[in-house]
Amino acid sequence: MFTIYNTLTNQKEKFKSLHKGKVNFYSCGPTVYDYAHIGNLRTYIFADTVKRVLEFDGYEVKHIMNITDVGHLTDDDLNQADSGDDKMIKAMKRLSAKSSDGKEKIIPETIAKFYTKAFMDDIEKLNLEKANFYPRATAHVPQMIKIVEGLIAKGYAYEKNGNVFYDLDKFPSYGKLSNKKLEELKLGARLDDHPDKKHPYDFALWLKAPKNHILKWDSPWGEGYPGWHIECTAMSMEYLGETLDLHTGGEDNIFPHHENEIAQSEAYSKKPFSNYWAHPRHLLIDGKKMSKSKGNFYRLQNIVDKGYSPMAFRLLILSAHYRSNLNFTWKGMDQAQKNLEKITKFVNHLKENLPETKKETNLTERSTKTADDLFTDLHPDECLEKFSLAVNDDLNTPLALSIVYRLIGKINKLPELTPKQAEALWQWWERVNKVLGLKIESSKIKEEKIPQEIIDLSSKREKVRKDKDFDLADKLREKILSKGYNLEDTPSGPLITKK
Ligand SMILES: [Zn+2]
Repeated sequence: MFTIYNTLTNQKEKFKSLHKGKVNFYSCGPTVYDYAHIGNLRTYIFADTVKRVLEFDGYEVKHIMNITDVGHLTDDDLNQADSGDDKMIKAMKRLSAKSSDGKEKIIPETIAKFYTKAFMDDIEKLNLEKANFYPRATAHVPQMIKIVEGLIAKGYAYEKNGNVFYDLDKFPSYGKLSNKKLEELKLGARLDDHPDKKHPYDFALWLKAPKNHILKWDSPWGEGYPGWHIECTAMSMEYLGETLDLHTGGEDNIFPHHENEIAQSEAYSKKPFSNYWAHPRHLLIDGKKMSKSKGNFYRLQNIVDKGYSPMAFRLLILSAHYRSNLNFTWKGMDQAQKNLEKITKFVNHLKENLPETKKETNLTERSTKTADDLFTDLHPDECLEKFSLAVNDDLNTPLALSIVYRLIGKINKLPELTPKQAEALWQWWERVNKVLGLKIESSKIKEEKIPQEIIDLSSKREKVRKDKDFDLADKLREKILSKGYNLEDTPSGPLITKK
């Protein structure tokens, strides 16, 4: 049974979908005016992991993630401030100024295409499961206009001078997601925000386009462009219906973005908008908030450029619970990379020993027996059960990973696995990795394969050790070391690894 902390009720709840075995899932996607930073990526990895756990539990998940390519204003994340530039237009100015002579006009469509592709590349590198669809806001303006018209007709919105605003006084339950009271908002709102608003805390559904504005559409209220919040209402309703099972987004989306989505959607449909809301906490860099001015602003490519695998970053994200702030450090990345190598070694160890790939084995009777003894102590089934309980308990991925590492650590110490053992472990790994979503490179195994010459030297050393010729044993060990391999004596026999 999956439980998740519901931001709407402020408690951990048992998850129950509207339709048996099916989940309608919406998550807020990127505004494609710039690259996604690693804080954004934490939110997307979280959404992916929720989806994977639901699928692990047998649900069929329909997932929609929007692409914002209009209407997200630079001040939008503030207290209902319908001011500032459209982020796409700002990017256009930034990139046009950068172009060779500053005269080349880069249109928003080109920018949106470029950063959408960059986002899709990140998704691929992080091995996120593809959403069923990534609708673009600019392709759904008629749907948004229809909902805005409906809200005006129902008395929840008003038009003035070509601008349409949501009348927050008409929606008394406003603030239920963010636990903000309308009274507080009234005090906090900027009075000078927009001259056409009835109340400063009302928010824009549609804005009149200024002269020469490049992103604009015809509407019943003249030429203009949609507000940011209305796009998520329109696109989620279009593809998932009026009530969602689950809605996710970054912590800073709770207010005002998600609060406004609820106000629009519930006033329009008269139904609950989403039964569950989940939000991961912030990602900090060396304990500080990420910002371009502080120079601690990273995207995935910066991590890859330093030689880390995107999968190590994925592991780092999973190593912290999503409801705690994650402190990103390069030391943390080092540890994540080491953990990834441990997992890679394990997976390749299994692959080598699976029945179809297993070559004629020359296991000594002694080591086979030891492996069997150890294997029965490991209980992959029990391990899977514990793993399942952890991920189903509000996505306790740190606990789930510790269970995985414990088993892998033991297996990696075994010199050999029988095909039967490898197969059982492989089945376990495939189930576990359905949730972890790690893409493990298998090419490394070829480099790591221990040459026959080294294996022969090691066997010879074992023999002379038995005959108590320790001088010769030491010499053989030196020889193995000089050829670039480490040799460690373990209870189940010598363990050879590449230096
Ligand atoms: Zn949204």
